[in-house]
Amino acid sequence: MTVSIVLFTSDLRLHDNPALRAALREADRIVPLFVYDDGLRATGFAVPNRRAFLADCLEDLDSGLRERGGRLVVRSGDVVDQVRRVVTETGAARVHVAAGVSRYATRREERLRAALGDTGCRLVVHDAVLTAVAPGELLPTGKDHYAVFTPYFRRWTSEGVRDFLAAPRKVPVADVKSEPVLPRAEITGVSPGLGPGGESAGRKRLLAWLTGGIAGYEDGHDDIAGDATSRLSPHLHFGTLSAAEVIHKATREGSPGAQAFVRQLAWRDFHHQVLAARPDAAAQDYRSHGDRWRTDTKEITAWTEGRTGYPFVDAAMRQLRHEGWMHNRGRMVVASFLTKTLYVDWRVGARHFLSLLVDGDIANNQMNWQWAAGTGTDTRPNRVLNPVVQGKRFDPAGGYVRRWLPELAEVPDRYIHEPWKLPDDDRSGVDYPAPVVELTEGRARFEQARGA
Ligand code: FAD
Repeated sequence: MTVSIVLFTSDLRLHDNPALRAALREADRIVPLFVYDDGLRATGFAVPNRRAFLADCLEDLDSGLRERGGRLVVRSGDVVDQVRRVVTETGAARVHVAAGVSRYATRREERLRAALGDTGCRLVVHDAVLTAVAPGELLPTGKDHYAVFTPYFRRWTSEGVRDFLAAPRKVPVADVKSEPVLPRAEITGVSPGLGPGGESAGRKRLLAWLTGGIAGYEDGHDDIAGDATSRLSPHLHFGTLSAAEVIHKATREGSPGAQAFVRQLAWRDFHHQVLAARPDAAAQDYRSHGDRWRTDTKEITAWTEGRTGYPFVDAAMRQLRHEGWMHNRGRMVVASFLTKTLYVDWRVGARHFLSLLVDGDIANNQMNWQWAAGTGTDTRPNRVLNPVVQGKRFDPAGGYVRRWLPELAEVPDRYIHEPWKLPDDDRSGVDYPAPVVELTEGRARFEQARGA
């Protein structure tokens, strides 16, 4: 009997999983393996919101496998030790894994390859599982990655995305012991509004999106109160949905909304290929301006707690805490506010986001933070988003602000983004802080620092 192992990482799905299909093709039985990795836990990446979502994903993956005659095999410890152990227990000839882009993932691949070296078992790394187009597949002449989105997108569109695969009908699994999945209910510190994880939940959301919201995406994606984006990001992060499948299905839908949506998925691939080529960009400026960031702990705390005195910023920060997710327009505004208006290091903001975001992703988070701070790939690195102007433009009636800041519920529309302008008579009973900094002062400080 031949055995192959599939090591699931950020590809927790049965549909369109090239690593799983390859293992099933070549072996009589497989081991669909997930390891609660001590090494990953040590990095601080396994925060409650993502652990809770992961619990749903693993339970759902296990039931999907059981429906196909198999089951999920769960282990905990060092991922390389555990894989090696399963190889010894089963005599597996191959281990299949999806290629990652972070330094942690590439190091894991190197360690696995080295550890399997003398076992006769081979590691097979599959590209374009976590992204639609593999990092490094599209390259500008003489360079190791695209540093600007527009030419990348042109190329990405003309080359197209690989076809997607169906889910297997049967999954024969080798007889090895497994540990239980840690149930979501046992994980503490989870945001109360966190959505459900798992491939089934992801596919349900995708179907609803393709037959509903997507058509209105082009006009509606920035309507922050309307909440009219797909909210597929956690599923794309955990790989409960395949980016390639989502892109093909959205392209088939064909509306201008679908085209605008697919463009956002190209941003995802873009950031992944930047990080794959520059793994140090997870922690270092991609393009340094020699910033000497400020470290005002009072201001940083006001920002993390959603008490800056700027309603649009505060509403978004409270959404993050409550849901473990934030609308993209909110992310852009709060990131600009922290890094430019307060002139605080983007790493402080990126770390806070990663402590809460269910879709918290090294490539997307770090590269978007760098974009917002002007140290990344933005071709206009010194632009500053004014939270009052942004609020009036993208939340004109204040619905988003009122949803997250109940203390401003009674404030009339015209003051909702500038409550400090409320006439004295209307201010009584409004328990809301004054702005932590004047916007003009913050902008002048930033522009002087950058020599802009
Ligand atoms: P939709 O608008 O429906 O877009 C569809 C998909 O396209 C998203 O699910 C996502 O996978 C991708 N996408 C959309 N915008 C971007 C973008 N700017 N960059 C890369 N991919 C994009 N996204 C993450 O997935 N994880 C993160 O950790 C993350 N951190 C961010 C931090 C900052 C400071 C900023 C400005 C953006 C960040 N984003 C991150 C990108 C974006 O905000 C989210 O992907 C999006 O809000 C998720 O909501 P949605 O699924 O409804 O998106």
